[in-house]
Amino acid sequence: MTSQTLSRQDETLQVQNTDTRGLHVITWGCQMNVYDSARMTDVLRPLGYAPVDAPEAADMVILNTCHIRERAAEKVFSELGRLRKIGEERKAAGLGKTVIAVAGCVAQAEGEEILARAPYVDIVLGPQTYHRLPEMVARAARAGGAVIDTDFPVETKFDFLPNAAAPQTEGNLTAFLTIQEGCDKFCSFCVVPYTRGAETSRSVASVMAEAQRMAASGVREITLLGQNVNAYHGDDGEGGSATLAGLAENLALIPGLERIRYTTSHPRDVDQSLIDAHRDNAALMPFLHLPVQSGSDKILKAMNRGHTAQEYREVVRRLREARPDLALSSDFIVGHPGETEEDFEATMQLIRDIGFAQAFSFKYSPRPGTPAAGQPFQVDEAVKDERLQKLQALLREQQDAFNADMVGRTLPVLFTGRGRKPGQLSGRSPYLQPVHVEGPDELIGQIAQVAITQRLTNSLAGTLIRERACA
Ligand code: SAM
Ligand code: SF4
Repeated sequence: MTSQTLSRQDETLQVQNTDTRGLHVITWGCQMNVYDSARMTDVLRPLGYAPVDAPEAADMVILNTCHIRERAAEKVFSELGRLRKIGEERKAAGLGKTVIAVAGCVAQAEGEEILARAPYVDIVLGPQTYHRLPEMVARAARAGGAVIDTDFPVETKFDFLPNAAAPQTEGNLTAFLTIQEGCDKFCSFCVVPYTRGAETSRSVASVMAEAQRMAASGVREITLLGQNVNAYHGDDGEGGSATLAGLAENLALIPGLERIRYTTSHPRDVDQSLIDAHRDNAALMPFLHLPVQSGSDKILKAMNRGHTAQEYREVVRRLREARPDLALSSDFIVGHPGETEEDFEATMQLIRDIGFAQAFSFKYSPRPGTPAAGQPFQVDEAVKDERLQKLQALLREQQDAFNADMVGRTLPVLFTGRGRKPGQLSGRSPYLQPVHVEGPDELIGQIAQVAITQRLTNSLAGTLIRERACA
């Protein structure tokens, strides 16, 4: 039997269970949702919930949603219909009730609407309240009706979560770690400030403790997460606040933790300490996701991004000066209200000038409640389609060239598991490219130098040149 005591302001709740129940979490959206799903699983474990692979085997299903893309809510309702049917079939088969919970940004933004349109949903919770899940499960069972909790509570969930069983991917060797949440920047097109709330940073002590647990459980590479991760300003325990560079310096001292990444950064928050860290901190990988969205100053202003195209170019120049092998990835939006052919061409020119190793690009899609959604001069869908195709063709060309350029180079590769073929190992390069070599299983979890010999469709192939090396 397991038990969990949840204390919260005026209430102490003891939840006990006698048997194991299946929990299936469906995760849509960004890495932060992947992290949140793992944390929700941790929170429910003491109640006897253990992860299962399919909703058909689950006593509880959590749909962790994302609001960034178009028609997000419609996608949620269609998935809920499917889950409802599975729940009914389980009940008919004598397997009892399936608890259905909706979490994440759609739940935050459209909680009431979800309960109105899908009254069979038991729990609706926002991204900032999932530490209260045990209480919600108990309340839903008691009340026999729906429970909704989309507060932005004064307490931070990180102080209430159980010690993390690291959210691990790739053979338990890599993990995400959320260090910062929310956003105060209010870009014209974006729902994040409304769904994730104001910008907050976790304390250095809390991040370090979680990273140490991850490293002790075998994690070799962590990706620090935040909507504005480089705006990090966590309590340093000495009356001040730490920068991302300072945090990364501490993290690099943790034995076993060999690689550090962070995402998503904002160009405005790249300070000199972070640029220096890319020169001085060997654990920081030379691959940076730095969204620019547009290359036109007029559109950047309309987007409320707070920087010009030239300022972006200058930040990249300084970063590359500090770390010449740094590669960049970015996000682009085409067809923001008011975008002309000339503005679009300015974006294409910025891409040509910078040269990206990888990028994500989207057609602007109006998000209800955001300033851009109500702006005049919305761009025609056909024009957006055409611009997106042109932009993606250029980005693909650059990505192909970047990958082709790896052939003949030697890269440190973190081996994360066996490859598909017998005797093959697979791992990833500093630039997150999948790399395959022939090699012994003992190398899994190690970093070794690989001479890259071939570029395949979505990966690189090479030969080991020695069995252990530094990152
Ligand atoms: N904080 C990050 C930044 O400042 O760039 C971005 C976070 S957002 C969750 C991820 C990406 O989704 C954005 O960079 C943007 O390119 C895209 N995105 C957000 N809202 C969008 C919208 N309404 N239409 C199209 N793309 C959007
Ligand atoms: Fe959204 Fe990023 Fe802008 Fe914040 S900085 S509003 S998360 S796009």
